[in-house]
Amino acid sequence: MGIIARALSADGSALCFAVDSTDIVQRLHEIHKTSATASAAAGRLVTAASLMGALMKNETDRITVRINGGGPVGTITAVADYMGNVKCSIDDPFADLPVNKQGKLDVSGIVGTDGYLAVIRDLGLKEPYAGQIPIISGEIAMDITQYYAVSEQIPTVCALGVLVDTDLKIKCAGGYMIQLVPPINESAIDVIERNIKDMQSVTELLSAGLTPEKIALKGLEGLGGDILDKWEAEYYCNCSRERTERVLAALGKEELLNLAEEQSETELCCHFCEKKYSFTSEQIRQLISRI
Ligand SMILES: [Zn+2]
Repeated sequence: MGIIARALSADGSALCFAVDSTDIVQRLHEIHKTSATASAAAGRLVTAASLMGALMKNETDRITVRINGGGPVGTITAVADYMGNVKCSIDDPFADLPVNKQGKLDVSGIVGTDGYLAVIRDLGLKEPYAGQIPIISGEIAMDITQYYAVSEQIPTVCALGVLVDTDLKIKCAGGYMIQLVPPINESAIDVIERNIKDMQSVTELLSAGLTPEKIALKGLEGLGGDILDKWEAEYYCNCSRERTERVLAALGKEELLNLAEEQSETELCCHFCEKKYSFTSEQIRQLISRI
């Protein structure tokens, strides 16, 4: 289980969310069989989506974060609910690259830097809210920070990290997000900037045994932060046979009839959890009669 903790500064001017997403990213790796670099890239994106999901308020709220920078991994899509439960699809999870000049997994190389980061927030209204920015670094955390500055005009900083072991298991993964709450307290900005500069990387903090609560409080050091709450989040896919039937039905009668005639069995695979749903041509015909 991942763990999310939320802290608020004493004057209420700054919020810090932190997550230990090690188990979530490990599950992502098991499902998609990701290479080390793809684990780092997709792991950072699901960690960010989990935190962004946790910033939402209502049970039915959903957030989709998608990045495509033209790199070998293709599009990575992460979808989270308001508790930070998250799922992810990856175009090419086997794509990999040698480590970069700093000896680190080359996340910006595999994501690419010529493309976009898109955020779609479904708040149960008629139209979901969508914002998009050009990628600035491809390392993901900086792109998320930029997204908040440009699209939402909320001063937010985001730090993310994934450490992959030599056997491709996830050693640790996590992140934090500090967001200012209007009216903006300028002096809080200075304190937070100093905190971020002094903080070690997320994976160093987690490797040193810091819990999400400790990390959340560290982000607000000097502002008298208090933990508001903490809870568990997981890699979670809500696909079902019914939903898959709806996807099939959307193909239309003609297309379905072709499927039923051409093959005795049609198999659909969920891009988020790799679960397979198969339909015999008889079942497809029954579906046609219902639409
Ligand atoms: Zn699924």
